Amino acid sequence: MEENKASNFIEEIIEQDLKDGKYDSILTRFPPEPNGYLHMGHAASICLNFGVAKKFGGKTNLRFDDTNPVTEDTEYVESIQQDVHWLGFDYANIFYASDYFNQLFEYAIQLIQQGDAYVCDLTADEIAVQKGTPTEAGTNSPYRNRSVAENLDLFLRMKAGEFKEGEKTLRAKIDMSSSNMQMRDPLLYRIKFAHHHRTGDQWCIYPMYDFAHGQSDSIEKITHSICTLEFVPHREVYDWLIAKLGIYPSKQYEFARVNINYTVMSKRKLKQLVEENHVAGWDDPRMPTISGMRRRGITAAAIRNFCEKAGIAKREKVNEFSLLEFCTREDLNKIALRRMVVFNPVKVLITNLENEVALDIEDNPEDEKSGTRKVAFTKEIFIEKDDFVETPQKKIFKMEIGQAIRLKGAFIVTCNEVIKDADGVISEIHCSYHLDSQSGKDTSGIKVQGTLHWVSAQYAVPVEIREYDRLFKVENPSDEEGDFKDYINENSLVVISTALAEPALRNATTREHYQFLRKGYFYLDKEATDKKIIFNKTVGLKDNWSKK
Ligand code: ATP
Ligand code: MG
Repeated sequence: MEENKASNFIEEIIEQDLKDGKYDSILTRFPPEPNGYLHMGHAASICLNFGVAKKFGGKTNLRFDDTNPVTEDTEYVESIQQDVHWLGFDYANIFYASDYFNQLFEYAIQLIQQGDAYVCDLTADEIAVQKGTPTEAGTNSPYRNRSVAENLDLFLRMKAGEFKEGEKTLRAKIDMSSSNMQMRDPLLYRIKFAHHHRTGDQWCIYPMYDFAHGQSDSIEKITHSICTLEFVPHREVYDWLIAKLGIYPSKQYEFARVNINYTVMSKRKLKQLVEENHVAGWDDPRMPTISGMRRRGITAAAIRNFCEKAGIAKREKVNEFSLLEFCTREDLNKIALRRMVVFNPVKVLITNLENEVALDIEDNPEDEKSGTRKVAFTKEIFIEKDDFVETPQKKIFKMEIGQAIRLKGAFIVTCNEVIKDADGVISEIHCSYHLDSQSGKDTSGIKVQGTLHWVSAQYAVPVEIREYDRLFKVENPSDEEGDFKDYINENSLVVISTALAEPALRNATTREHYQFLRKGYFYLDKEATDKKIIFNKTVGLKDNWSKK
């Protein structure tokens, strides 16, 4: 049972509950509101909810918390399902809180009949005032002592659409002097004449979070209802409602939100970035959304690993973006196919090469099962402009006149001459290759200090490269003065249109990840076509970014 050892406090609770025989098996749920695309915080919640269930032989439901008709949309419902699957998790059931609207309505009737809920005519502003403060008790609503009969009549008429929005609410009758503000007669239902993405125009009253959430948990017999810390004060309401209704006693547990620096992690803010065109959509590779990270080339395994390392805490903290990059590199190093792409090319002529040489170059030295690919070594090739220097520097090994250097997977070449145009710009570099120095069968005895990537001029294909930087200039844009959007990094996207790739990349797909030698990890963008090949830079080979 070693593998089932608890690795965070939520797992410890579950482990203990199972030991105590409280449950035969556990059931968790992931309850997103379908009002945006999922982000890294949700990924953490998914990994936790599905992770603990898997670890302790239980199951997890996916439940759309779709009780607010105004902000929800089927597009979001679909993207959320896709994201959960992509992260590698299977749900036992897919439910919608809106499936329970009839049942919730029945529960409301039950509370009214028990004298535990009443219809209130106060406006939202009046309710806010009579709610009191954390140090001062609230005052009872003048409608608090309506008779059961009157409450029933009014509630049915609310449902029938006889009142305007905001005119009446249904409230739980708990305690206006409770030290917990949430217990001061919380709202259970409000009137909203809005079209719902699933129930259409069937309802004009909608349950509030407090009323829908715990009851949905109970209906599904969720054993451990895991949510984030802001719901701690709601737990008392959660328990009160379940007790009053006498329904399945689901239990709520809270953990701290997972944050990352240099970004924002709230659907509301991410939506603003999309709607105001600061990014190219929810799946823009700079976004901390699951779909954005996927498009960038970050793998599900890397995200799961990040969530594991970030951990489940009782107190909020901000994780370093570079931790996600570390996890990404770690995974991609194992799986990425190695390819050569020259970003800023200069031509090199191999003066003594007559016929092209067919080379076999390994796809991934980290993976024994990966094979090799054919690469043609031709008379004209390209290397990076930056890889040639006229004035040699210590400890930096580049191509320089009179020196030998290896071309990856090919031969050692010696640079003999540079040709410049009238403006003094290098137009061509002349080298000669050493016939007996081919990689893997080198008998030349020549010692070289460096290896350069290159592409054949004859066969290279042009590709567009999109490189990304942090989306924000500051670590915590939400904590800064003014609007978080004032801190957007305008230079977070750099497009390189001069790059030339080895021909194998003509067949690149999103089923593969690539390491461009000496450049980083790259992933084919969804906008790529046969005519225009586009790669997103997922992450560099080294961490150039964390705390300098
Ligand atoms: P947002 O503020 O981004 O809209 P939310 O909490 O309102 O987030 P929901 O769709 O209601 O989003 O959340 C679904 C689940 O994901 C909830 O259980 C919520 O607690 C959890 N969750 C949301 N954000 C985070 C986060 N940053 N870290 C961990 N869990 C999160
Ligand atoms: Mg929410």
